[in-house]
Amino acid sequence: MLEKMEEFDSERVVEEFEAITKDAEKVQREALKKILEQNVSAEYLQNLGLNGRTDPEGFKACVPLVTHKELEPYIQRIVDGDPSLILTGKPITTISLSSGTTQGKPKFIPFNEELMESTMQIFRTSFAFRNREFPIGNGKALQLIYSSKQFKTKGGLAAGTATTNVFRNSKFKRTMKAMQSQSCSPDEVIFGPDFHQSLYCHLLCGLIFREEVQFVTSTFAHSIIHAFITFEQVWEELCSDIRYGILSSRITVPSIRTAMSKLLKPNPELADLIHRKCTGLSNWYRLIPELFPNAKYIYGILTGSMEPYLKKLRHYAGELPLLSADYGASEGWIGANVNPHLPPELATFAVLPNIGFFEFIPLRDNIQNQHHNGMESSFLCVEPEPVGLTEVKKGEEYEIVLTNFAGLYRYRLGDAVKVVGFHNSTPELKFVCRRNLLLTIDIDKNTEKDLQLSVEAAATLLGEEKLDVVDFSSHVDLSTDPGHYVIFWEISGVASEEVLQECCNCLDRSFIDAGYVSSRKVKTIGALELRVLRRGTFEKILDHYLGQGAAVSQFKTPRCVGPTNNLVLQILCANVVKSYFSTAF
Ligand code: AMP
Repeated sequence: MLEKMEEFDSERVVEEFEAITKDAEKVQREALKKILEQNVSAEYLQNLGLNGRTDPEGFKACVPLVTHKELEPYIQRIVDGDPSLILTGKPITTISLSSGTTQGKPKFIPFNEELMESTMQIFRTSFAFRNREFPIGNGKALQLIYSSKQFKTKGGLAAGTATTNVFRNSKFKRTMKAMQSQSCSPDEVIFGPDFHQSLYCHLLCGLIFREEVQFVTSTFAHSIIHAFITFEQVWEELCSDIRYGILSSRITVPSIRTAMSKLLKPNPELADLIHRKCTGLSNWYRLIPELFPNAKYIYGILTGSMEPYLKKLRHYAGELPLLSADYGASEGWIGANVNPHLPPELATFAVLPNIGFFEFIPLRDNIQNQHHNGMESSFLCVEPEPVGLTEVKKGEEYEIVLTNFAGLYRYRLGDAVKVVGFHNSTPELKFVCRRNLLLTIDIDKNTEKDLQLSVEAAATLLGEEKLDVVDFSSHVDLSTDPGHYVIFWEISGVASEEVLQECCNCLDRSFIDAGYVSSRKVKTIGALELRVLRRGTFEKILDHYLGQGAAVSQFKTPRCVGPTNNLVLQILCANVVKSYFSTAF
């Protein structure tokens, strides 16, 4: 039977977005009303005494702000198969696993059709804007996407990462088809049980359909970089598969072999062409446009913890534009990138006011700065009340609080964002960082962003030797007295002792937080330590997370490894080849 092709009407999607953002406050009220009406029978809401109120004021008065920790007992009952309506008006049948990078273990989060629908709304919205400025032709997408292991919970619910739940849903395929963004790989590759084999076959499919590939994408930039680093290692084998039409013996999963055998035919001309292209490149610069001559751009989440990969991505991309994907979490989507021309460093996300109810906790540091000379600021130690979506102020930073259609009410997402402007009346956000502090020993406060800036500064010294930091992480070592920061680096080659010592000093000097600098001067924080890792250490960390049920598509390198993440710390420490202590202070 012929599948009905969904038409994609960009103009209509843009018009819809313009309409819902015109009076975002009204749309927010309506969204909250809908959420509370749909879930009126949920035990959680019943116990909070809303008594049928659906207005933001009543909602805020009755419902407390929560984190995942407070909701965990409720979610656990759902996971264990309690049939009562606990968080939602309709039973939850699917659970998402968040990447769990911070805590070291994945979190369970309810998933339902409404979340699926808002995911598609976000995808359609940003695509409509993107396609106006960067139109793609009829073709395919090299989608470097993967499924996590799926399993049934004790209570029989389907569980997998949020991205897996999305990729498996038939709506995803239909939407991708309508947006001319169909994957060039068959389902057997996307949903294969072994990520390394799936990755190899994604690359092979990309090469087979190289003329048709319109763009290269993954959920997060990490998977794109990872794929092309792998390409550097396996390209000759890929060429050989194409030349003889015989799939490498490294692919052992029968379903993948069967699916690939339908696509792979002997093609010596293509093999020669790819071979010529690869040998003609200098240090793999412009690899992506060489392999995919009709690609218009590279697309994925390139912001936040993905920024450190931009340099390498630009190297592979040459002149191809890097377009940032939308902003969301397993807990729900937040904003679409409707300004696709902005470089990743400036990317913003316009909040979709109909997909949830959003509140924003002003970040205290900001308030202190604002009232710098006032009396009240220094005594402010309670957290300020959250403000509504249309009450946020340009230039200010906030933590996002989310109420969604899948049982999360006033849920603190833990992300810090900055309001950089408005699209009609909805704010455009810039992602700042996860709100929790990464590195703190004494009065010092350093976030993921501070660590990134410090690593970037020090890595420029390596650049002079034509070397890169492949990936990095950090740790607070309190086993020494005083405690000190440890920065782990995996480097693309071998750097000299002098340069690494200089990098170590530069890392130490580049944490410019006043608390850190003063503590270093009086030695209440010890000398920063740079530990250089064996090549492939971060690959081992990735494998460790995959073993726990994470998906490559959602993987984020843990930027700070705390005591709760002991296994990752062990992997890091077991792979140190050399360490340096700063002499900067
Ligand atoms: P997960 O826990 O796997 O659901 O990942 C969700 C988290 O990824 C969010 O809370 C953010 O910290 C981060 N994230 C998602 N989208 C973006 C984005 N566009 N830019 C930066 N960080 C993002």
